[in-house]
Amino acid sequence: MKIAVVGTGYVGLVTAAIFSKFGNQVTGIDIDKKKIKGLKEGKVPFYEPRLKNLVEKGLGKNTLSFVASYKKGIPGRKVVFICVGTPAKENGDYDLSYVFDSVKSVARNLDDYTVICIKSTVPPTTKEKIKKIVEKSTEIDFDLSSCPEFLKEGSAVEDALHPHRVVIGVESRRAEVLLLKLHQPIKAPRVICDIKSAQTIKYAANAFLATKISFINSIARICDKVGADIDKVSLGLGLDPRIGGKFLQAGLGYGGSCFPKDTWALIAFAKRLGYNFKFLKQVDEVNKQQIDYFIDKIVKLCGGLVKNKTLTVLGLSFKPHTDDMREARSIPLIRRLKQKGVKIKAYDPQAMENAKKILKGIHFCKNSYEALKGSSALILVTEWPEFKKINFKKVADLMKEKIVVDGRNFLNAERLKKLGFVYRGIGR
Ligand code: NAD
Repeated sequence: MKIAVVGTGYVGLVTAAIFSKFGNQVTGIDIDKKKIKGLKEGKVPFYEPRLKNLVEKGLGKNTLSFVASYKKGIPGRKVVFICVGTPAKENGDYDLSYVFDSVKSVARNLDDYTVICIKSTVPPTTKEKIKKIVEKSTEIDFDLSSCPEFLKEGSAVEDALHPHRVVIGVESRRAEVLLLKLHQPIKAPRVICDIKSAQTIKYAANAFLATKISFINSIARICDKVGADIDKVSLGLGLDPRIGGKFLQAGLGYGGSCFPKDTWALIAFAKRLGYNFKFLKQVDEVNKQQIDYFIDKIVKLCGGLVKNKTLTVLGLSFKPHTDDMREARSIPLIRRLKQKGVKIKAYDPQAMENAKKILKGIHFCKNSYEALKGSSALILVTEWPEFKKINFKKVADLMKEKIVVDGRNFLNAERLKKLGFVYRGIGR
């Protein structure tokens, strides 16, 4: 099938790559000309395992192409996926301007019946506005639909090829048939529903996952107070299939391009509907407080005084296996530590270039050992597997003070204690 994918970011590029792998003729469209130029040469502009390989294969087989022009990319396509960003505004409200702009450009270039499918995460009433925009811009017959995306950065290709479900929001049998055909190679349960339900599923999923994280972080506070072990508590909780063990790891809280903005968006959307979503506001509040809670731990362990001390932050990206710094927990953490007069040394296996654009006045290091040399504490922010392999015997000699504050409960506490480190996690 000939399809187009508008927006070649994390979601769009993965979508384009997997549908081309299934043998469709896919065109990726983006307004970022530099990005398109690179993609034509097989250059993936961000770090995502397996993606480069898939893009190169698609280009090689001529099932995948990229253009910076709607005129070239839209006519003749049966399905057009909209995968542009829906960022949060300063006040937490959602910005749908990229969606509206891209839909208008798509509509102006339609030449025959097309299914316009929204993959971007948007509030459930957006479809009415989108429909009006398309109807104003073209006489050509179209159907609107929504297939929200559930991939996770760091395992995006795997998630897109083997999702837990495929949600297809449609208003016509014609669109349903086309989308079912396109998704045929993906073996996963289908949820066929109306567009508003599809988009509500996406918001509800992210809000629920954020809730699990804030819930376990609240329980971790109790553990800290009574000396219980949150890891055992999570294990005991998660073995109950009604609860499930995923997203029950206590830590610094959630960040990234989705959970924060989608919880804020749902709160803002609910307000527009006249509903005060207090419960979700509290989830967000717990997440925000988690940084200060962690900093209090650091300060206490450093004897109450951190001014002029050198501390090392390991891991900067919002989670491992990505270089994405959007809403990364390292950002507010480092900024607040700097306000306290701390000198920061930092290292991340993939996100250094992106981090340098955001975090100023810190010393970026080439590896963990350089970052830990002369430092008064190791602060673990992102659980990259390579940090488990650090030679802590060597590190014990490099550091000024042997303190480890583990924001992801990731390192081997017993081993570190045996080596003479003072170790604290969150709720353990
Ligand atoms: P992104 O910022 O990585 O990519 C968006 C792309 O859209 C950019 O390349 C940008 O240049 C392009 N773009 C913007 N306006 C355009 C226009 N008018 N025409 C063509 N291209 C345009 O965004 P993302 O992380 O891929 O997210 C896209 C959507 O998917 C968002 O709604 C997000 O909430 C949702 N989502 C993201 C993830 C994730 O893990 N990143 C997961 C599920 C859903």
